[in-house]
Amino acid sequence: GTPIRIIVPRGNLHLTEVALENAVFCFEYLTDYYAIPYPGDKLDHIAIPDFAAGAMENVGLITYRDSYLIIERTKASQAELQRSVDVIAHEIAHQWFGNLVTLRWWEGAWLNEAFASFMEMKAVDAKHPEWKRYLDFVNAEVPWAMGTDQLRSTRPVEFEVNAPAEVDEMFDAITYGKGNAILRMIEQFIGEEEFRQGVGSYLNRHAYANTVTADLWEALEGATDQPVGKIMDTWVYQPGFPQIDVATVDGGVRLIQRRFLVIPDETDATLWQVPVQLRGVADGRPFATKVLLDQDEVVVPVDGEIDFVVANAGGYGFYRTRYDDNLFTSLLDRLDDLDEVERHFLVSDTLAFVKAGQLRAASFLDLVQGFSGETERAIWSVIIGGLATLEHHALEDKARSGFEAFVRELVGPVLERLGWEPQKGESDLDRGLRGDVIACLGNLGRDPEVISATEEIAQRLLDGGEVDPEVGTAALSVFARHGGAEEYGRLWQAYETALTPLEKVRYLRSVAGVVEEDLALSTLEKVVDGDIRAQDAFWVLARLFMSKAGPTVWVSARDRWDEVLARMPGLTRRRVVEGIPALSQPEVAEDVKAFFATHPIPEAARALTQALEKLEANTLLRRRETPTLTTYFSRS
Ligand SMILES: [Zn+2]
Repeated sequence: GTPIRIIVPRGNLHLTEVALENAVFCFEYLTDYYAIPYPGDKLDHIAIPDFAAGAMENVGLITYRDSYLIIERTKASQAELQRSVDVIAHEIAHQWFGNLVTLRWWEGAWLNEAFASFMEMKAVDAKHPEWKRYLDFVNAEVPWAMGTDQLRSTRPVEFEVNAPAEVDEMFDAITYGKGNAILRMIEQFIGEEEFRQGVGSYLNRHAYANTVTADLWEALEGATDQPVGKIMDTWVYQPGFPQIDVATVDGGVRLIQRRFLVIPDETDATLWQVPVQLRGVADGRPFATKVLLDQDEVVVPVDGEIDFVVANAGGYGFYRTRYDDNLFTSLLDRLDDLDEVERHFLVSDTLAFVKAGQLRAASFLDLVQGFSGETERAIWSVIIGGLATLEHHALEDKARSGFEAFVRELVGPVLERLGWEPQKGESDLDRGLRGDVIACLGNLGRDPEVISATEEIAQRLLDGGEVDPEVGTAALSVFARHGGAEEYGRLWQAYETALTPLEKVRYLRSVAGVVEEDLALSTLEKVVDGDIRAQDAFWVLARLFMSKAGPTVWVSARDRWDEVLARMPGLTRRRVVEGIPALSQPEVAEDVKAFFATHPIPEAARALTQALEKLEANTLLRRRETPTLTTYFSRS
């Protein structure tokens, strides 16, 4: 067999069991999927302190951030455990797709990354089916990608690359998120086995050689009758993605496509070849069909009266779905007939239409009340995320107590059902959900009981006591959000003395979550002084901008921008703008725009333009929906 080793700094060997188990499983799974022997004679995985990238797939010696390989199983949250196996699977997948066969030039780098991300999900889903990796995908990667791709300033997946700066721009949400999603969309349209055969013949045909993206489409077309190249070209060379408007008409279901933009533009006439999977019930009988929506409008024939229809069945499509009122209501009545990915899309599509001004926030708030019986962590995640977005951008003080009561009423029963203590035999996702709802009730619902309970738990954790990692992470978040100088000091000390990389990250996240203005400013100070490691500086800054202290931190960061930038080396430079979209208060947003008009960041030019467009969308959301929320939560 092939020797597989985990290499870590001295003293950490006893914390590599998780990584080794992941590395061996993924190696075997991927060898089996590709049906081609590993093209090397050993595969080492080495932890590198202060590593700016996540990992790098060097042939035979993969390099990683230390937190992905050094893990104490019982102290890690589900998200942390998943992150480790995600990254390991991704890098091993590259040993074939990327290393055995390499794209000819940088324009094709997206396909390397998209494909490795696509395989990563397969391997992780095989190792941990109970984690529902594909539900997590529509909760994490898909909205991440759409969040950029719904901008006028997005980019096509593939573009001509002539300069090093253009190479750096390629490693973003469009490559990793959209690239992955459109591969999954075409795989599910042509069939998993057909797709796998096409991939196998691509790798065999081009082993130890170079390719262009069309070579993969050609190999896939050898395994299916579908026009893969024609379909994929519309997704790869055109920026953006569509929304599909769905309505019942005589004889069937009408689908209309148009580009979805968060700041709408009626003049945009882009069309895609959209693989649509449709299912539902008509006259009490289930139906399911695949159609290629290759023009602006099509009527899919359905016999009988339609009881309900899902126009993104299984959630494989990279598009938003807008149902007419009757169909939408019928779906709400049939939530139990939808699978978890379809239910997730119902919530996330509604939220997206609110952000784009097609629906009012009240539609989202009404919708989520129908989910009180929901048990999936990812679905609660999109609900809680939507509430947090509205709270951040559109909640006036006079509506706050009504909003908090709404949150407690909606989310409180979930914690009651789960209890505070992990139950024997419960799933990892339920353990994670417990943490999520505790954080939500403490931070968004300001539930006094939750705040005092989490304070006690956080103290116990800081005193070195044993606490379930999900509950502990949530408790630290609430503790930080309501904390003052004393709490801040304890969190910082815990960060400095933490023994493992994962603990360090967790405490640093709490430090960055303290929102009292003086304290947030001293965190900024620590970024500038270098007390916070360069590998963490960009995300700490983003969290500060996204907090209640964001406007104050912005002014301070702006006034010594060169010093701040100097702390963001290499690949992290591009990410310095990630917190900017949160600064949506009108006068702050104006200041941000004016500042960057005279302070461009050449290494982050596109990322900055996109961040400013997201900021613009958020200021519009604030203006539009603040009155909506005030009315909504003033109801008795
Ligand atoms: Zn990669």
